[in-house]
Parts: sequence; C-alpha cells; structure tokens
Amino acid sequence: VGDLFGSGKMFLPQVVKSARVMKQAVAHLVPYIEAEKDENTRSKGTIVMATVKGDVHDIGKNIVGVVLQCNGYEVIDLGVMVPAETILEKAKEVDADLIGLSGLITPSLDEMVHMAEEMQRLTFDVPLLIGGATTSKAHTAVKIEPAYDRAPVVYVPDASRAVGVATRLQSEEQREVIAREVREEYAIVRDRTEARRQGREFLSMSAARSNGPALDRHTPIEPNKPGVHSVTFDLAELSRYIDWTPFFMTWELAGKFPKILDDEVVGEAARSLFEDAKAMLNRLINDGVLEARGCYGLWPARRTGPEEVTVDTGNAAQYALQFLRQQTPKPEGKPNLCLADYVLEENDYLGGFAVTAGIGIENVLAEYENDDYASIMIKALADRLAEAAAEYLHEQVRKEHWGYAAEEDFDNDALIKEAYEGIRPAPGYPACPDHTQKWALFEMLDAERRTGIALTEQLAMNPAASVSGWYFAHPQARYFGVGKINDEQLAEYAGRRDMPLEEARRWLRPNLG
Ligand code: SAH
Repeated sequence: VGDLFGSGKMFLPQVVKSARVMKQAVAHLVPYIEAEKDENTRSKGTIVMATVKGDVHDIGKNIVGVVLQCNGYEVIDLGVMVPAETILEKAKEVDADLIGLSGLITPSLDEMVHMAEEMQRLTFDVPLLIGGATTSKAHTAVKIEPAYDRAPVVYVPDASRAVGVATRLQSEEQREVIAREVREEYAIVRDRTEARRQGREFLSMSAARSNGPALDRHTPIEPNKPGVHSVTFDLAELSRYIDWTPFFMTWELAGKFPKILDDEVVGEAARSLFEDAKAMLNRLINDGVLEARGCYGLWPARRTGPEEVTVDTGNAAQYALQFLRQQTPKPEGKPNLCLADYVLEENDYLGGFAVTAGIGIENVLAEYENDDYASIMIKALADRLAEAAAEYLHEQVRKEHWGYAAEEDFDNDALIKEAYEGIRPAPGYPACPDHTQKWALFEMLDAERRTGIALTEQLAMNPAASVSGWYFAHPQARYFGVGKINDEQLAEYAGRRDMPLEEARRWLRPNLG
C-alpha cells in the first residue's frame, strides 16, 4: 500500500483505511510476533511525533503517522500541545531515529525554532522533520535549520513525501546524500529569501495611510439584537452549509467539489471518501454526542485612529482594537488596506463571534481508538461543521441579528464564493494576523464561558474545530492580507497595544519584513 501510494496509484483515504485493517490484524498477531521477535524483524526506524506546545491541530500529523506506520516505521505519537522537553525526553528514552514536529497556527513556527535550539543545546543528533499548514521550506531554511546543525532538518510539505524523506534519512548510503542536498538547497533558499528581504520596499506609515481606500458613502444599520448572545446549532442544519472542497484537500485529493467526484484520476477515491463522510456525518448528527455552540456580539463602534476601532461593549467598557495596515507599495489605483478603514468615525458598529463544533468530540473519538480512518474523518468533519457554523451564523447575523441584509437569499455555492455583504476576518489570519487579538475578542464575548472554547498560551482555540472573528458590515469590506510590515509599524502597533516591543515582535514575526 505504501508503495502504491508513493507511486501515485493509490490515494490517501485508501491508505488510511487499509492501515485500519492492518492495525487490527496486527493487534491479533502481536503476542505471537513478540514471542518470535529477533534481529530480522526490527522496524525501519522509530519516529517520535508531536504537535508542538500551544497548538491543538493534529489531522496532518496523524495522517503522516499512519502513512509512516504503513511503511514499517514505529511511530510514537505524543499528541498535541507537547512541550519541547517532553518530546526530547521521549526521543532519548526510545532512542528515536527521527523527530517529527507539526503545527498549524503561526505561533507554532517559533516553538519549532525553540525545539531546534534545544536539540542543539542538548547535543541531539536526530534528524528533524517539519510539517503543518503555516510551515514552509523558507521558514525551515531561514529559521529552523540554522538553529540545529547536528543532523538534517527537513521540511515535509505533505504526507506523500514523508516516507521518501524518512527512508532516505534512515538509509546508510542515502543519509549523507540527502543531508547534503537539503543543506545546499536550504542555503540557496536562505540567499533567495535574504535577497527578497533586502529588495523589499515599504511605504512609510503616513504614505500607506494616505493611500487608504476611497470608500463609498454608506449609512450603518443599527443591529436588531445588540449585545452578546449565545447560540446552539443543529448539526443537520449546519451540514447544509458545509464547504466540501477543503475536506477533500485534508485528504490530499485535489479538485473542486462536486466536480472532484467525477474526476478522471481521483474521482473514485473521492466518491468512496464522500460516501464514508456522509455516513459518519449522519452518525454524528443522529447520536447527539457532538455539539456545536457559538456566540456573537454586536456593538456600537467607531474608528478612533487610522488603524484603531473603539468598541463600546456596554457598562462603560471600551475596547480599542488595533489593526495593521498593508505597507508594501501598490500598483496605481490599488489602496493600502486596513480593517479599520471599514468602520466610520461615528455611529458605526462592529461584531464578533466564536463558534465551535468540537464539544464532546473526545467522547466520539474514544469509540474509535484503534481506527485512524474514523478518527481523522471525525476531526475533518468537525472542522467542516465549525466552518459551516461560522457561515451559518454569519448569514443569520446579516439577515436577522444585525439585519443589514434582511433580503439576502443565497445558496451555499454563493455563500462559499462570499457573494454577501460584509466579512468575518479571523484573528491570526491574513487581514488581522495578530493572534493575540483573540484576548480582546474572547473577553468581549465572554466566549470561553459561553461556548466552551479555551485559548492555549499560543492562542490556538481548543477544541480545534472552532472559528472566531470580527464582523464588518461595510458593503465594500473584503478579505485581504496585511503582508509584510516594517519596524515603523511594529513600534507604533506595540505602543498602541501597550505591549513591550519584543513581545509584539514575537507575535508578529511572520509578518515582519
Ligand atoms: N468556506 C471556507 C472558508 C475558509 S476561510 C471553509 O469552509 O473552509 C476560514 C475563515 O477564515 C473564514 O470564515 C474567515 O473567518 C476567515 N478568513 C478568510 N480569509 C481571511 C483573511 N484574509 N483575513 C482574515 N480572516 C480570513
């Protein structure tokens, strides 16, 4: 199965599914295998894997774990939110051949650098594999590899590459070759990144501000239900709001839904996966163990600075929210955007929300302890339901709770294409990349108490199947990426946030040019 997957003749869902059969069969055989174990039955190597401290996302890590197991590796998976010490202790204890780190949110990037520094300090010589949504070859080359030179550090872009990399690192003949290849390649990546950094231009903040967007006149609508409100969701209703395309991406099947079901190459695998997904979704809907909850707040707000929005949450409480402005020079006619641009200086409103579809998920997962296929499926579906909840609640807010688009009537396709008015940018994502904005958002919403979502020290939301963000109603509001900023903006932002410069630098590191 591993070979077929490696050569592109089999797809990830089938691999994970067959791993389940394998695992169950092996469980029966283990007593006999243990009795007969000798020199010739050693595994191909032992890998210790973990999602780093402060991060709770593990679908990708679990997939990589299954794929490595299929290929004869012993995988010791330490789970999520694992501190460096724990990973390194375990690696020592089992004499690990490889260490694999995973993470999804941007603060995890720093934690991976920290791991590499610790491995250097403690004179480890175990290769380090890096993977997860915000990781990249550039970050690995520029930040992680230079911190640890005692063994290769390799970025693994997806599960299909994991085995190839692991096998080469384990092979006597190949180990030196891949070490050299990676070292040379990453040196080039570093040079290229440095050249790009040197060549990068920034507008001064005053120039960026004067190139802010010229928006149409617009009269804000007063929310029908001001203040903060809790909601519970019906999973069956939410399932109609699912955007399925990212679900297939999770399983490394590329293509847009529903066309992917008829795709020449992956269609069969996609159909079979979709059948299983619908069956599991029905189970989740019918057995009542998984719950989806949320809350939203709609408040008077006004723009109180070029990048500042002040929100009145009632009882004289005010939150001065700080946003970031695009600072790279734009082509003629293109503005340098900041989310604050979408709020008027008086008599306007801002909303916030937090939703989760992960309440009770441990209890569902507990039923599938030896079934990676089911557990990855459940987590992937919970993620979809959380995004669907964000979509559904946003629609309710536009049509009723805020009510600025009472007449709106879109089908799910149009919702996915964001045909509606207004946006719901999420802290930690490109338009407002500072995850620490969740401190204010969660406080304003009393979100932890209302929804059961907790924030980790790195601002991941736990359960992982959660979404939170702001509501902007301006008809011209659209998503964008802040991109890279310079020290001028960093210093201003830290000042406005009342945050020590070094702390702001740490949280905004991925955006510092
Ligand atoms: N339909 C997709 C939506 C993915 S985007 C899905 O189901 O997966 C997920 C969330 O990120 C959105 O709901 C929105 O809250 C936020 N988002 C998207 N683009 C953003 C941007 N540029 N800046 C900030 N938040 C963004």
